[in-house]
Amino acid sequence: MVLTGAGVSTESGVPDYRSASGIWAEVDPFEVASIQAFRHDPERVWSFYRARIHVLHEAEPNAAHHALAELERLGFVSAVVTQNIDTLHSRAGSRDVIEVHGSIRSAQCLRCLWTESGEAALAQLEVRSAPLCPHCDDILKPGVVLFGELLPPGALERATDLARTAGLVLVVGSSLEVWPVAGLPLEARDFAIVNHGPTALDDRALLKIDAAAGETLAAVVEAL
Ligand SMILES: [Zn+2]
Repeated sequence: MVLTGAGVSTESGVPDYRSASGIWAEVDPFEVASIQAFRHDPERVWSFYRARIHVLHEAEPNAAHHALAELERLGFVSAVVTQNIDTLHSRAGSRDVIEVHGSIRSAQCLRCLWTESGEAALAQLEVRSAPLCPHCDDILKPGVVLFGELLPPGALERATDLARTAGLVLVVGSSLEVWPVAGLPLEARDFAIVNHGPTALDDRALLKIDAAAGETLAAVVEAL
């Protein structure tokens, strides 16, 4: 099982959240990306995500995404559990992707539980400051897990099962700071980490490689 975080997408030009140059150094997540903020001022939350979604639509999968898709095709990877909302794993060809923090491919109505496509929500943002549910007219919520929200039902359970049965959990591009996902490697028999900079679990890992995800995973594919 592979567990990925923002660091797998930085080589695609997608800014991460928690580094010194990350998104949360510029804006307070509780003001633009929390469920409290959405209930209080959904237009502000959508103004933040609208800009994010445009950046993510411009981004292309990088060598790390392609290598993980190839490792799945070769039978070495059973599933990718990702904290990323950017859909780049699927676009690179990974088939079993568990998006534990949701994604930009949808938007949801909290009142009637309708799920709208991300494209349709984005199209509405051309004419209004927050997209509306086509069924009940309530304001849609981005399909990403906001701070203060629970993870999508079943996602964490499936990821935990995969971690417990995997021969190895490979962590790529995550500093393992956001719980409960950060606890997944501890469920595994063994885990290895590829990440630029320290993570919370470096001293518990079987192997830690402090390097860029793209070149490292491309080398793994080459070696196998
Ligand atoms: Zn609705």
